[in-house]
Amino acid sequence: MGVLPGSSLPPKLSAFLLERCRLPASLPLRECSDAQLAELWRWCTAFPLSVTGVRDFATCQVSAGGIPLDEVDPQTLQSRLVTGLYFAGEALDVTGPCGGYNLQFAFSTGAVAGQGISQ
Ligand SMILES: Cc1cc2nc3c(=O)[nH]c(=O)nc-3n(C[C@H](O)[C@H](O)[C@H](O)COP(=O)(O)OP(=O)(O)OC[C@H]3O[C@@H](n4cnc5c(N)ncnc54)[C@H](O)[C@@H]3O)c2cc1C
Repeated sequence: MGVLPGSSLPPKLSAFLLERCRLPASLPLRECSDAQLAELWRWCTAFPLSVTGVRDFATCQVSAGGIPLDEVDPQTLQSRLVTGLYFAGEALDVTGPCGGYNLQFAFSTGAVAGQGISQ
């Protein structure tokens, strides 16, 4: 069975699932019992995880906080407090869910700030 060949699971995850189901990696799939297959299927389709905490700033993907949005002109992203100072991306107090929203926000605000600077 190895690392569930043909699946899209990462090798480490499939090895973990086999271990969790106490299935030897060398066992051919056709020799698995119905109960073994059911157990493997259960773990492949429902893998409960408990969040135990958050990691530190050095390892975070996104940080909350930053320059309040009411302190910048949304047309140019220039500071309302300091003329000639522009902000983009994570410097601003905007935090999106993981999945591209933060990158897109960084790209878009970078473009807006760049246009603002050039005006
Ligand atoms: C591991 C990881 C995974 C992520 N995955 C996703 C994801 O899947 N989807 C998503 O939307 N977002 C993701 N993010 C978040 C996303 O990468 C950030 O929100 C985005 O890159 C922020 O862009 P930014 O330009 O504001 O800041 P950054 O990309 O952090 O750029 C800031 C730059 O400024 C430089 N810098 C810092 N201090 C100074 C200084 N004093 N002088 C000169 N340069 C300086 C830094 O070296 C850096 O190059 C992830 C982040 C991490 C760390």
